Amino acid sequence: MIELENAAYSYNRDDLLRDMTIRLQPGSFHFLVGPSGAGKSTFLKLCYMELKATTGSVQVFGKDVRDMDRDQIALARRRIGVVHQDCQFLDHLPLIENIALPLTVAGRDVTSQRENLEELLKWVGLSDRRDATPPELSGGERQRAALARAVIMDPDLILADEPTGNVDQQMSERLLALLVELNRMGKAILVATHDFGLIRSTKSQVSTKALRIKDNQLHLAGAEL
Ligand code: ADP
Repeated sequence: MIELENAAYSYNRDDLLRDMTIRLQPGSFHFLVGPSGAGKSTFLKLCYMELKATTGSVQVFGKDVRDMDRDQIALARRRIGVVHQDCQFLDHLPLIENIALPLTVAGRDVTSQRENLEELLKWVGLSDRRDATPPELSGGERQRAALARAVIMDPDLILADEPTGNVDQQMSERLLALLVELNRMGKAILVATHDFGLIRSTKSQVSTKALRIKDNQLHLAGAEL
């Protein structure tokens, strides 16, 4: 699904991330940990093809990102749902239309997807907020809306960058329950987080692995997590 071989990335002269060799399998659940500034968001951007490795190879769905043109990257991205840290929305559009945006961008007929959209809103517990605009939503509602938008295209892989950073414990658990459910449906999940409590409670529900960024390298973390 995502395969890195001796991949490195640098924003300037020094490598922020180096010697990365890792394979994320379909249906897997990984946490990505490491101190702030370690390169977690950067790693997610490499997986999402927003950045290209400065050396080494990154393969996404079996294709080397270096060999992909813009159209191929756009197509591959439809198979990846991303929940960004800051959950940006179009503030003038009601929630339901924000969640439908990836369909619109992909040129799909949104009207035929109404039922699907309503079901998704129900799944994230936001049916009664369907007509609210993003500024009217709470932090937890925004996070769940971002998750709904990330899965509307039925992606094979979901990347989440600190999805529980700005929400309380109860909401964190609710979000994680949704991610666990998606994983049980066969989707691969990669979550960057600082929240070790969350990692522990997830580990008791599904099989997870932890990747740790330390000293500019990515390690499969041991049992200490
Ligand atoms: P994390 O998600 O672990 O907090 P990031 O991947 O956001 O880490 O950032 C890792 C390092 O790269 C930080 O020192 C950050 O300042 C730097 N960085 C991030 N984006 C850029 C950029 N566009 N240009 C230069 N440096 C950047």
